[in-house]
Amino acid sequence: MSLMNLTAVELGKKIKAGEVSVEEAAKEALAAAAKKEKAVNSFVTIDEEKVLAQAKEVQRGIDAGKYTGPLAGVPAAVKDNMCTEGMLTTCSSKILGNFVPTYTCEAVLNLERAGAVIIGKTNMDEFAMGSTTETSAFGATKNPWNTEHVPGGSSGGSCAAVAAEECSYALGSDTGGSIRQPSSFCGVTGMKPTYGTVSRYGLIAYGSSLDQIGPVAKDVTDCAVILEAIASHDKKDSTSIERKDCDFSTALVDDVWGMKIGIPRDYFGEGLDPEVRDAVMAAAKELEKKGAVIEEFDLSLVEYAIPAYYVIACAEASSNLARFDGVKYGYRTDGFAGLHNMYKKTRSEGFGAEVKRRIMLGSFVLSSGYYDAYYLKALRTKALIKQAFDKAFEKYDVILGPAAPTTAPRIGDSLSDPIKMYLGDIYTISVNLAGLPGISLPCGRDSGGLPIGVQLIGNCFGEKEIIRAAYAFEQTREYEHSPLA
Ligand code: GLN
Repeated sequence: MSLMNLTAVELGKKIKAGEVSVEEAAKEALAAAAKKEKAVNSFVTIDEEKVLAQAKEVQRGIDAGKYTGPLAGVPAAVKDNMCTEGMLTTCSSKILGNFVPTYTCEAVLNLERAGAVIIGKTNMDEFAMGSTTETSAFGATKNPWNTEHVPGGSSGGSCAAVAAEECSYALGSDTGGSIRQPSSFCGVTGMKPTYGTVSRYGLIAYGSSLDQIGPVAKDVTDCAVILEAIASHDKKDSTSIERKDCDFSTALVDDVWGMKIGIPRDYFGEGLDPEVRDAVMAAAKELEKKGAVIEEFDLSLVEYAIPAYYVIACAEASSNLARFDGVKYGYRTDGFAGLHNMYKKTRSEGFGAEVKRRIMLGSFVLSSGYYDAYYLKALRTKALIKQAFDKAFEKYDVILGPAAPTTAPRIGDSLSDPIKMYLGDIYTISVNLAGLPGISLPCGRDSGGLPIGVQLIGNCFGEKEIIRAAYAFEQTREYEHSPLA
């Protein structure tokens, strides 16, 4: 048995008890990655020397009583859109192919303060734009359950690394579902916190009003503990919130008696794979057996979430990505005629097709004449979607539904039709538009053996409710290790 078969908390306990050294754990993660990377391609960067040096340092810290928490010494992976001092941070883009940041993202620093050992940086859709991890400039990541299928995206590398057991847990980022959807496709548990809970300082921005960093792990307990470690108020991020209720692990109780769970009928209509529907409904039944009160309701406005999201996300992306121009960071074209030509050539060569598509769409909706018709309208729609959730949460503690309409598609099937790919975000993006917390955890597999995830959505600051419901459901089934684990 490999130490990577354990959950993060289980491994942390062994390290704390002195049964396993931090170096041994790190070496097992590195060995697992060396063996499996050819098949999965979860990582963009692994710096062995750095990992082993960090492991030694953390062991010294544990011995000296500096690191006492549950994650001390446990190997983690970090999505490659989080800056790490002295370590390549590419956003899986050619334009940042040589970018080595001078500082570390606050969420990663928080992990390091908890004694984490960072194994490496995980592959992703370029600039987190996509749902399959196929838009990476460094090749697609494969799904550890079946390497002919995608792992989902954009945090596909993080989710595949956890499912293939190349690390104990990982961080992802979620702008429109990028933690929950690939977690669902890879059979792991991933959580997007309430907007503002985790600092975005050092997270390379995609859609700043939607982006949140969150945990990807084997189980709900790990997610709660990791979120506790990374959540913090940070003056360097003006949207960061000071929360007094970050003791998320207190919600790890197997008790949903009387909990009111709403199931939006709108989430079970056209386009939903019947196998996904059945598995998700079976999960609801399990919670009902434990005493939760399950009720169907109409959420409304669901069909407007995708257009509103793509207008807002692309608008913000076009502005955020203006900084990559060959002057300040990363790639610069060779041979150009003057400054404007340098910008043009650098950006044409440095960005991939999906990123360019979104920059164009975003620039269009922000241009004068179209601003009111598209961008402003999308912002109004966002406010209405938030109101629809507010109304639902007057009645329900938690909302339950699928994380994605299907299981993981085959590699290559999604790229040809971007609109179809965008439609796959239907169940996750409204959660970002409303700033809510959501978790996806495994609830079954389809006839092809691919994992299915159930999503639980909470009210703002309602992490503890969804953790409690997720934990209670998780007790009804065993964790399934992927064939590559
Ligand atoms: N699939 C969505 C998109 O392409 C969500 C991505 C994300 O959450 N980063 O925008």
